Amino acid sequence: MSDRKLYQAVSDKFTEITEQMAMHDSIKMILSQPKNEIIVNFPVLMDDGSYQLFKGYRIQHNNILGPFKGGIRFHPEVSLDETKALSMLMTIKCALVQIPFGGAKGGIKFSPFKYSREELRRITRRFTSALGNNIGPSHDIPAPDVGTNSQTMVWMMDTYKNVGKTQEFHNAVVTGKSLNCGGSEGRNSATGFGAIYNVEYWAEDTKFDLSKSTFAIQGMGNVGSFAALKMAENGSKLVAVNDYAGTLIDPNGIDVEALATYMQEKRTLEGFNGLKLQSRDAFFEAENDIMILAALENQVAENEAPKIKSKLVVEGANGPVTPEGEAILLERGIEILPDILTNAGGVVVSYFEWVQNKNSESWELEEVERKLRKRLKRAFDAVRKIQIEEKKSMRDSCYLRALNYINDVYLERGIFP
Ligand code: GLU
Repeated sequence: MSDRKLYQAVSDKFTEITEQMAMHDSIKMILSQPKNEIIVNFPVLMDDGSYQLFKGYRIQHNNILGPFKGGIRFHPEVSLDETKALSMLMTIKCALVQIPFGGAKGGIKFSPFKYSREELRRITRRFTSALGNNIGPSHDIPAPDVGTNSQTMVWMMDTYKNVGKTQEFHNAVVTGKSLNCGGSEGRNSATGFGAIYNVEYWAEDTKFDLSKSTFAIQGMGNVGSFAALKMAENGSKLVAVNDYAGTLIDPNGIDVEALATYMQEKRTLEGFNGLKLQSRDAFFEAENDIMILAALENQVAENEAPKIKSKLVVEGANGPVTPEGEAILLERGIEILPDILTNAGGVVVSYFEWVQNKNSESWELEEVERKLRKRLKRAFDAVRKIQIEEKKSMRDSCYLRALNYINDVYLERGIFP
């Protein structure tokens, strides 16, 4: 089961790193499990007059640094283990980029593409009302994730406003909202662009010329599309793309803008530019310099890692490279930019959105992007320093920086009472 695998991978990494840094046992114990695991089963009226029962989750992992924070996923594979693993990754991610949030994750186990807009609206509203005051602008702040978007967040905010107790700053109860309803400039593109800012820092550091490079991308959803557009802006050529339907390969280059528009409409690679769909393996075997993984977890394992020809693998999604896959890539000298650093742009701009909402401000895009770049660069440089000084992988260096910070805060504050 893939969700179990991600949970195991995140827990194992946590244990490995906390042992290296001699974290206090009581702090290790607290962080090894989420604080709250909320599961709700709720009925929703379907368009045909029938009712369907849905299972929703909100896992609140830790809030020592600030309110719980993390996305809401709508996907048929959503499970307790997957959500627990992703909530822990959020705690570590927020600590890594030093924003005043803890970690959480939520979701509903269903495929949103099989439901009408009205059904989606009722599912989202009923889920939000079932969560009640378990979410709130200074308690737990959801955001978009796989299968959700700004519309989902606006429905959540509106429902919260109508049923929740807190009326103050109610629009800050979720981030990733539309601009009309209190969202921030630059939030929609933040995860994908942020991933490529990290690629730019890596390229500067390794003296790699992005403008002469080629790249491959898995997943052309929100993260993948913006990442691909930013790579193209840097002069890199898209030569392979993969999604659940298959793989498109064109060594002469695939038009990223046309592809992003096509994917938004059709949601599948099938039929794009008359190119023939190839196998999943063909994607991992393709020649390219940089491979961006922007789909789901557990994509690169023992089968895929030996085939990859890239110099750099970029985790736009959460957990796309398994520990076994990572060991093979590192052994082969292929660098990995890990998820908690690479895709942190989304939650960083979520933080900016929350700050703007609280202050009734609205910043210009240029200001958001400047602040985002600055924060990501600071995290990248700090992680690179640990990597060099302590001879660790990028992922281990990220965990070390984040967990040391959380450890220091616990030690200063003490454990209540
Ligand atoms: N779902 C995104 C993530 O995994 C964003 C979370 C947020 O903005 O709170 O990082």
